[in-house]
Amino acid sequence: MELSLDHIRAARDLVSRHLPPTPMWSYPLLDRAAGASVLVKHENSQPVGAFKVRGGLTLLAGMTDAGRRRGTVTWSTGNHAQSLAYASHVFGAGCTVFMPAGTPEFKAAAVDSWGARAIRAGDSLEAAERRARQHADETGARLISPGDTPELLAGVGTVYLEILEAAPDLDAIVVPVGSGTGAAAACLVAATLAPRCAVIGVQSAASPAAHDSWRSGDLVERPNRTTAAGLATGRGFALPQRILRGRLADFHLVTDEEIDTSRRLLATAAHTLAEGAGAAALAAVLTRPDRFAGKRVAVVCTGGNAGPDELATLTRA
Ligand SMILES: *Cc1c(COP(=O)(O)O)cnc(C)c1O
Repeated sequence: MELSLDHIRAARDLVSRHLPPTPMWSYPLLDRAAGASVLVKHENSQPVGAFKVRGGLTLLAGMTDAGRRRGTVTWSTGNHAQSLAYASHVFGAGCTVFMPAGTPEFKAAAVDSWGARAIRAGDSLEAAERRARQHADETGARLISPGDTPELLAGVGTVYLEILEAAPDLDAIVVPVGSGTGAAAACLVAATLAPRCAVIGVQSAASPAAHDSWRSGDLVERPNRTTAAGLATGRGFALPQRILRGRLADFHLVTDEEIDTSRRLLATAAHTLAEGAGAAALAAVLTRPDRFAGKRVAVVCTGGNAGPDELATLTRA
């Protein structure tokens, strides 16, 4: 299935039955720090604290009753898991999530709290993925890839309809990237609604698989060491990379330290609690004054699920 803006518009009809649009605000102190006119899109204010819930709801809304009874299974360290757990709760479906053994307790607890089953399995995301595939084979549950599922991509695209309808004159939208579904959807929306608006991706230099896949035009594997869970992936995903190719205007890498600085600025200048991934877009703007000076830019604060470690570093100068 070739995804288009029509799929994203259809997803909005589904998502808007469950979620109001999120706010988008500007803050003079942020503008001053960035030397640009910055709009923060507050996906941290979603019910599970991240934009991915839009994808989960779109996916579950499109499943048959029989499919929902068989349920879904996936692998994740965090927000994708919570999104699917939340949507499964809304639609009364079963949901099993395999999480790497090292996943912090608060993330597993959040999944459990929506009535889904969080299972710790293996020492890496890849090991958790293998267990999820096995579980799907054994139980008939639908395997949901966080990166290669069209319904998820269409659902998260609804963020960009909201952004560009509220601010049609943007010079750029900066999007944090893990698997790349959000950035790919942003490209599809901007191409029609605001062809002059550049969509720019950001990933952590400590987990550059999506960035390197886009630059090389190939699906590559890379070390996955960022502490920003939403940006953590060890490989490129085919579906979003196919869309990003030729459409994404640019792709920046930032360090985890630059992300921490950006999180602190969001806390003090925008009274916003962001997790690492949620602050990555602003980090790219702050570290590239030459690229963004004087421009009107939307940064997507994709999530606010900061754990104990991320909360602790907020107070460190
Ligand atoms: C998943 C996630 C991202 C990355 O989104 P992709 O669509 O996987 O590229 C960014 N920020 C947060 C908070 C996330 O949970």
